[in-house]
Amino acid sequence: MINMKMQIGGKAVEACGCEFSDIINPATGEFIDRVPRGTEEDAAMAVEAAWSAFSDWASTSPQQRAGILYRAAGIVRERKDELAVLLTREQGKPLTEAKNEIEGFANVLEYYCGLASSFHGDFIPIHQSGYAFTVKKPLGVCSAIIPWNMPALIMAWKISPALISGNTLVLKPASSTPLTNLTLSSILSEAGLPAGVLNIVTGPGEVVGESLVKNRKVKRISFTGETGTGKRVAELAASGMKRVTLELGGSDPMLVCDDANLEAAVAGALRGRFYNCGQICTAVKRLFVFESVAEEFIKKLEAGIRNLRVGNGLHEDVDMGPLNNRRQWEYIKELVAELKEKEEGRILTGGRVPEGSDYSKGYFFEPTLVADVSEESRLLNEEVFGPVLPVVRVKDLDEAIEKANNTCYGLGASIWTKNIDRARIGCERLNAGIIWLNQHLKVAPEVPFGGTRESGIGKENGPDALSEYLDLKTVMLKT
Ligand code: NAD
Repeated sequence: MINMKMQIGGKAVEACGCEFSDIINPATGEFIDRVPRGTEEDAAMAVEAAWSAFSDWASTSPQQRAGILYRAAGIVRERKDELAVLLTREQGKPLTEAKNEIEGFANVLEYYCGLASSFHGDFIPIHQSGYAFTVKKPLGVCSAIIPWNMPALIMAWKISPALISGNTLVLKPASSTPLTNLTLSSILSEAGLPAGVLNIVTGPGEVVGESLVKNRKVKRISFTGETGTGKRVAELAASGMKRVTLELGGSDPMLVCDDANLEAAVAGALRGRFYNCGQICTAVKRLFVFESVAEEFIKKLEAGIRNLRVGNGLHEDVDMGPLNNRRQWEYIKELVAELKEKEEGRILTGGRVPEGSDYSKGYFFEPTLVADVSEESRLLNEEVFGPVLPVVRVKDLDEAIEKANNTCYGLGASIWTKNIDRARIGCERLNAGIIWLNQHLKVAPEVPFGGTRESGIGKENGPDALSEYLDLKTVMLKT
């Protein structure tokens, strides 16, 4: 046991309440470590530390800030293997996915370092009256609240634009995956990030998260998590007139037309649904396939799913690990049990907890494919954050789009076709913040990411994310 501590004002600290939470490996039930169960006082202390550090950090040059983040990215790359093992142990994902995520963390940091000199104001001549100019300033203390599915990558999405633009930050990790976040934060300190610029407070969302959102000194909240939690965060933030970015749930549709490359579409659906055990906001959560190719497509997909090897992410050749936590596991089991009981679909493969000693202590569930799903089924009407994929046959693109849009969410969507008109129509009519053509799931630091409708407000990644962390002041001068 290392007994990891929170990081506040550059120091490793216990919680004021002297309580701890155990972090468990979801594949084995093994105890990994314990972290402090933070309190409201801890959250307030972290905000004070970030507040004290703000003016010095804001007055460093963007190049100095970039130098530190570059160094941190370098250390992360050197320690990639060790960090990936830690991530797999607390999150459950296969090691190759964990390595990709750690690399993604370094990529995002480096991308924003490259933008360090790019944010500045504008000069605006005003006809016969003078001119105006605009100045961009960091906001002050920001807070980031993140989930457990991609803890390293989402941390990078939030801290990189915030820090490079001169803000200080308090980050609250998810309760089940704080260890990678704490380790990454200590790497940033090692790279030279001054004390108090980035603070990490572990603990329950209702306590630490809400305290951060309500604190008057916090100017901005960047939240990633469930839509229900996001609504609560938005409500609390509104009374303090704080800026928010909300990256919330999704129920992404994948549309497979009759002219699609079926092999590629099958591979896309497998990766799109079962990567990270289906626990990705933009995972393929509903599959709509043209009737004329449905039989062939489903057969190929079923065979692909049967080939997926489920197991402990630390073991070689594992394609899919366990769900991350008991709550999520219970949810998936209950959903499938209800589907069977109400006869709301035909399970083609999967649908059970795998048997055997390798699985007996973890939160495993078989990758599952369900056909002939009734429209009332929870599978089509809730965000299913796990390895269960419903497939629906449709007669044409109109029906596919109508059904795909029949949700409160609007995060991502993909269309699989070689026909440019179908692709264009899909892009125009699908309600989603990000649309993929003949692929699904791909993200990149330079590409804006975020949802519409109840999938959220605001964008992360890309140069525009910087504006979210900068105040724009206008100065008008008469000549
Ligand atoms: P969650 O909403 O339960 O928790 C997210 C974070 O919020 C955690 O750190 C949690 O402790 C904290 N929290 C909980 N209650 C809070 C409160 N009242 N006030 C402030 N903070 C609170 O979500 P989760 O189960 O950790 O993550 C899964 C969800 O995240 C899914 O819905 C998924 O789609 C979504 N997600 C969205 C994106 C995106 O970019 N749109 C990315 C990843 C995950």
